[in-house]
Amino acid sequence: MEEIRKVSVVIPVYNEVENVPILYEKLKRVLEELPQDYEIIFVDDGSTDGTRDKLREIAKKDKKVKVIEFSRNFGQTAAMAAGMDYATGDVIVTMDGDLQNDPEDIPRLLEKIEEGYDVVSGWRKNRKDAAISRKLPSKIANWLIGKLTGVEIHDYGCTLKAYRSSVIKRVRLYGELHRFIPALASTVTSTDKIVEIPVKHHPRIYGKSKYGISRTFKVISDLFFIWFLKKFMQKPIHFFGFIGLVLFLAGFFPFVYLILLKLTGHSIGNRPLLIISVLFILAGIQMFTAGIISEVLMRIYYESQDKRPYVIRRLINVEEEQ
Ligand code: UDP
Ligand code: MG
Repeated sequence: MEEIRKVSVVIPVYNEVENVPILYEKLKRVLEELPQDYEIIFVDDGSTDGTRDKLREIAKKDKKVKVIEFSRNFGQTAAMAAGMDYATGDVIVTMDGDLQNDPEDIPRLLEKIEEGYDVVSGWRKNRKDAAISRKLPSKIANWLIGKLTGVEIHDYGCTLKAYRSSVIKRVRLYGELHRFIPALASTVTSTDKIVEIPVKHHPRIYGKSKYGISRTFKVISDLFFIWFLKKFMQKPIHFFGFIGLVLFLAGFFPFVYLILLKLTGHSIGNRPLLIISVLFILAGIQMFTAGIISEVLMRIYYESQDKRPYVIRRLINVEEEQ
């Protein structure tokens, strides 16, 4: 049992003017019932439809509402990352701003965190989106991500999730990576600290979805990146170095054998073995060097992580100490 003192709810919004006030009211009702303290962090991802003014209005009256305004549209992942960077709770709950997720599920997510899980992932068992263009590609993606990363959950795409802050703050989010958070989290916590619970899902009533089938490509390239990250990024030199060493030895022994033959007065004439062994030695050295370069890349990758994938124009109700 790990006690929660404060819950931060992070909501990326991009042109959700009709949804924001309704969501705020619903959320408020649920959060006021919690034994814990809370904050609501709206991240305005460059909205152009009046969402920003609505958020300013709400934040003026309610100091528990923090608003992060981006200078332009940076995408849902960057918005989520910003919300997490500024969150001060020991648990972070993420959700969509379009009323498709239900705030009433939050207490159940929190219960699981209290049981000791680090990641509680919502599973939209009754997903209310188009079957062919949305649900089918998701099904395939979830299966693939599960197989490649070893974290087999049903619904990566569901944004309604809860995380222990200390864990999720170690995961860097950029590009389109928010869809892979449970798999990314498994690089910083053990897989059995990740759990899934069914949550409600509603059809979108106001505004429209910002995504179509076109994002499938981006998702696939992210997927390969994560697979690589998990498998080799921790110790790339082992991967390339091992192949390099095998090739090197496979070339080196025949090479020594040929030299010995030559020294003892035998002709090594037109033996293809000579060229093969030299090629193997060269390939081996190159692979080994690739291992060293990847090791350097890996370090650069980790050390450059304090770069942020967004630009903030304005912060409301946030004490600036970041
Ligand atoms: N969103 C965002 N930036 C974007 C696109 C979407 O902050 O560039 C927000 C959007 O306002 C919503 C959430 O991310 O709160 C999920 O977006 P959407 O409902 O369009 O996705 P879907 O539910 O169709 O997958
Ligand atoms: Mg939606």
